[in-house]
Amino acid sequence: MPKIILLDDSTIAKIAAGEVIERPCSVVKELLENAIDAGATEITIKVKEGGKKQITVIDNGEGMEKEDLLLCVKKHATSKIKNVEDIFSVLSYGFRGEALATIAEVSKMEIISGQEKNDVAYKLVLEDGKQKEFLAEQKYKGTIVNVYNLFYTIPARQKFLKSDAYEFKKIADWIKAISVANSSIAIKVYNNDKLIFDFAKTDSVETRIKNIFGLNVFAGACKDPIVDAKVYFTNPTDLQESMSETKQLFYINNRLIQNRTISFAIIKAFEFKAPKGKKPNVFVFLNIPPKVIDINVHPQKLEVRVRDENTFFYPVYNSLKSALESGINAKQEESRTKIISLVEDAMKRDSSETLFRNTLQERFIAEKQSKLDLPFSSPVSTTADSKPKDYKIIGQFDNTFILVEDKNKSLLLIDQHVAEERYNFERFQNEFDKTKTINSQELIVPMSVDGSNENLELVEKHKNLFSQFGFDLSTLKDSILVRKIPTMLGKIPDRQELKEMISEILLNIEDEKILGAPNIVENKVTKILTTLACKTSIKADTSLGFSEMKRIVDNLFTTKNPYTCPHGRPIIIELTNKEIYHKIGRM
Ligand code: ADP
Ligand code: MG
Repeated sequence: MPKIILLDDSTIAKIAAGEVIERPCSVVKELLENAIDAGATEITIKVKEGGKKQITVIDNGEGMEKEDLLLCVKKHATSKIKNVEDIFSVLSYGFRGEALATIAEVSKMEIISGQEKNDVAYKLVLEDGKQKEFLAEQKYKGTIVNVYNLFYTIPARQKFLKSDAYEFKKIADWIKAISVANSSIAIKVYNNDKLIFDFAKTDSVETRIKNIFGLNVFAGACKDPIVDAKVYFTNPTDLQESMSETKQLFYINNRLIQNRTISFAIIKAFEFKAPKGKKPNVFVFLNIPPKVIDINVHPQKLEVRVRDENTFFYPVYNSLKSALESGINAKQEESRTKIISLVEDAMKRDSSETLFRNTLQERFIAEKQSKLDLPFSSPVSTTADSKPKDYKIIGQFDNTFILVEDKNKSLLLIDQHVAEERYNFERFQNEFDKTKTINSQELIVPMSVDGSNENLELVEKHKNLFSQFGFDLSTLKDSILVRKIPTMLGKIPDRQELKEMISEILLNIEDEKILGAPNIVENKVTKILTTLACKTSIKADTSLGFSEMKRIVDNLFTTKNPYTCPHGRPIIIELTNKEIYHKIGRM
């Protein structure tokens, strides 16, 4: 007796189904994509019991002819490609011709479809992959697909499905992701007969994102000969960000994908803009000629291959970077007003929770928003018209923190080092933005700084780079000879400070290489300015007089972002009087 048997077609099909249809959300995704491929402008999705009992997708697309309806559920039946070459130029979501055949295999399925030009539509009913009924129906333009009792043919698999709520959440996530990329289609979603989403058609992606996620986004764009990039992102210091879970969705030719290069480009673009540890909400759309990429890598088509990953990196990085730097424009005024009202609302709510959270940052944003045109905390220029705040210095704590009572009767603990660092950083950046160079100042007597063997070698290697940053360095035996320093420092650093600056700049230069990041000069400038700012600022554990403290606090409040240092750490801790009274038990 041979041990090997050949599996029958139905078993083979059911095993293979797992690759395409994993759970109810896979069905929704495939049907929704088919509807979009069919040119629908209105799509309704109805789900019962997390999609386990029923999934219905109704579209007003081009529909199918009688013959096509009979064919569409056959294996490898597709109208989207004709030969293997076509998959390299395909722009539709589907092209494998396996979705409907697979779903039919693992459910009870009904498809009603008709075309404008025909007087009748047709209905096809299948069970366990086999045709049960085929009849004429009244005229209908478009397609309705009903999928009942998913996986009833594979009970073992059915058992692996999770709760209705879990499965619906998965479905909802897919619908949201696909809806972002198809804002010109009106999409309605019902769960157990209750309307859950109603996304009106719009020609603005911003509006669609607002509709789906409640986020106010800014737009940026960048076009090169290969890639046409559009990005949408939330203000890195926007309050909403802290309230909702972060979204980062990437699309290539409107297809949702995952890609680490794009994630990396976002991290780089937002470096020094977003508080550390906070991920900005970003939506990236890349249009790329299909021939340059290969979308056929992943069974669920989530990954895209491209010969040179820089194809993705620069368009994303540049579009974000320039949008972040140019800031808000008139068209974005509206969303900004919304941010303000959100802040005001949050402040009005008298729950102790909101009082204790974020109030300082909220007030700051509200104040700045009402006075200035500053959507981002990007330290580009220090504003001339910002006035010193109304405050009183109480003293110094632990030789490290300046204690301040502000006009709102809050107690502020300001980190003296990072406060000065923030101010110096913006001052340096401001100057660099104006002149695009870092001027140097010659030291009357060159200073010698001792260097380790390693540093000596690197200083020689990067001499030219150092001169771009205003330093004239050379090596002499075991020491580094400093002849010129950047003028913007405003003072001559001592030996120790100089030594630290040089080592840290070297670290920055080398670090970029270790990370494998492309050679982004601008990014390097920011990092090096941060180092210079850090090293020229008053250290922690330094006793200060009142006038010095006042200078530091005054300067801090002229900066664009007094709340986080260039490294992303907080500068100020606020205790509101309410909080203090509450803790003491007076309230
Ligand atoms: P694919 O989308 O990869 O071609 P499917 O199995 O999803 O494979 O669909 C098979 C074919 O059925 C499609 O190529 C298309 O011609 C037709 N079809 C499927 N859904 C629809 C729809 N909603 N409207 C019109 N035609 C459809
Ligand atoms: Mg399809």
